[in-house]
Amino acid sequence: MVEPAVADTPSADEEPPEEDTDAADLLVVADLVAEVRVLDERPRYHLSSCSWLAGRPTLGLPVQEARQLQFTPCALCTPDAVLVRRSRTG
Ligand SMILES: [Zn+2]
Repeated sequence: MVEPAVADTPSADEEPPEEDTDAADLLVVADLVAEVRVLDERPRYHLSSCSWLAGRPTLGLPVQEARQLQFTPCALCTPDAVLVRRSRTG
């Protein structure tokens, strides 16, 4: 295998920070079945559009299940805020 010359992802092997979810949003998230993406053996869950996921193999699962499995939201793509907003606007 040949490594790419320069990877434009300095923190590729670091976990993104955790989203600081509003307490009210947390209650909503617990009832949402919108899909989020997780990586094997990583603590964060993400939106499928998250740039941190680029090129990585991910698994999809409902956000309420991700919460139950102790995953925490990514601060880069803020899945909780986005999904709660999406659920409120229908
Ligand atoms: Zn993310």
